[in-house]
Amino acid sequence: MKKRNRSAMNRHRLQRVSKVGALWLLLCFLISGCGIQLGVEPAQGDAASPLPAGTKADGQLRVIFLDVGQGASQLLISPSGRTMLIDAGNNSEEQRMVDYLREYGVERIDIVVGTHPDADHIGGLDAVIDHYEVGAVYMPKIQANTKTFESLLQSIRDRGLKVKTAKSGLKLDWDEQVDVRLVAPVEQSDDSNNMSAVIKVAFGETSFLLTGDAERESEKAMLASGADVQADVLLVGHHGSTSSTSLSFLRKVSPKYAVIQVGENSYGHPKQEILDRLKKQNVQVYRNDRQGTIEVVSDGREIRITTER
Ligand SMILES: [Zn+2]
Repeated sequence: MKKRNRSAMNRHRLQRVSKVGALWLLLCFLISGCGIQLGVEPAQGDAASPLPAGTKADGQLRVIFLDVGQGASQLLISPSGRTMLIDAGNNSEEQRMVDYLREYGVERIDIVVGTHPDADHIGGLDAVIDHYEVGAVYMPKIQANTKTFESLLQSIRDRGLKVKTAKSGLKLDWDEQVDVRLVAPVEQSDDSNNMSAVIKVAFGETSFLLTGDAERESEKAMLASGADVQADVLLVGHHGSTSSTSLSFLRKVSPKYAVIQVGENSYGHPKQEILDRLKKQNVQVYRNDRQGTIEVVSDGREIRITTER
């Protein structure tokens, strides 16, 4: 009983205090005409903050696996706020891509990579290049006889840009705190998927391997080249097709987390065999079709993953 009385009293006192406070504020406002800033602190560093949080330089590396349905696209934001876009989904996702970049506050893309000329990767890139200032464009040395590919080359030309050749051993000058290097394609192939640019991104003690649609042939060549493919986060090759993620390659990468960029599709991606293989290797799997856009943030030591749903 006593307790309740006391709390009732406190409440009463609080009401009086707030009444006095309100009167004082009103008086101050009337006298000085000043705009009083009520002390609302902006929320900072909220781990559970909803996507997206813009491209501000916050000392962290962010790798965002954008949900572009059946296709692939990764937006990277460096610790100093530099941007890189790897692939941009299908032609049908052009508007979605442009909107995503706007939502993330992207004004300029320092590096654009088209991993290989397939439409589910480069389809949206022409619109992105038309809409945004771009620093450099990298693509592997393989052509495609498609309108999608021609349209991309046209956009690149219109911007006065030249395509730089993506191949293994190349180190990309992006952010001095982040090591970005290509580990594939190692050798020339007639197969578009096996010409995929595969990118290893390392920041502090954390690393990512972004594989495009590289298949077994390319995985073998990467292993034979002796390139360091180990990564905490693996973008599962070719949307989880059995053509990729061979056991020997997966063991060498030895990821903790894997992302499968997949949407509704008639190919049966991702294949159960690959999901089982990942599970057996104790890899935690994230999927765009189930979780929407997936954002992986690294402070150089630890990795945090947030999903849209
Ligand atoms: Zn693909």
